[in-house]
Amino acid sequence: MNFRTAIIETGRIAYQRGLLTANDGNISVRLPDGNILITPSGLCKGRMQPEDLLVITPEGEVVEAAPGRKPTSEQPMHLEVYRLRPDVNAVLHAHPPYAVALTVAGFDLRNDFLPETRMTLGSIPTTDFALPSSPQNAAVIRELIPHHDALMLRQHGSLTVGRTLEEALINLERLEHTARVQYLAQTLGRIVPLPEGWWR
Ligand SMILES: [Zn+2]
Repeated sequence: MNFRTAIIETGRIAYQRGLLTANDGNISVRLPDGNILITPSGLCKGRMQPEDLLVITPEGEVVEAAPGRKPTSEQPMHLEVYRLRPDVNAVLHAHPPYAVALTVAGFDLRNDFLPETRMTLGSIPTTDFALPSSPQNAAVIRELIPHHDALMLRQHGSLTVGRTLEEALINLERLEHTARVQYLAQTLGRIVPLPEGWWR
């Protein structure tokens, strides 16, 4: 699967699973030549065509774009990830509803009750609030993204990264699953943490 097809497919899956809605979210991949393939502003990520995607430099200059297409307004956040994480080749920003609801209600995502989450993602921190589509998003992730493959932008959405787009999507799915289980367990009345020290 080429990189354009992989982004289209990831957008479609995330949209159909309800992890993105309307024309929200954005997706990018670092190409072998160092440039970035990124989704455009304003389009539904579930219904994109390969030619809708843009190629930009690591500094954000447009190299290749169909007429009228502009890169996502969250471009500064994507470029910040690639600058700080040489090991990362894919960035996925989504609006997973359970995870966002937890941050809206003032809860952090917990990592002490599901073994898979603990073993794969470690912890999932929440950033300070930043205005969506503003350069503030690049600033609020700066301290966290070097140490985490999944984090929450407070009262906004998720940011997951991976060596591949498949990894970034798996991290998003796991983040939302964790949030959903946390929400359900809290609604049932309590969360029983994993036994002390089992992961050491
Ligand atoms: Zn967003």
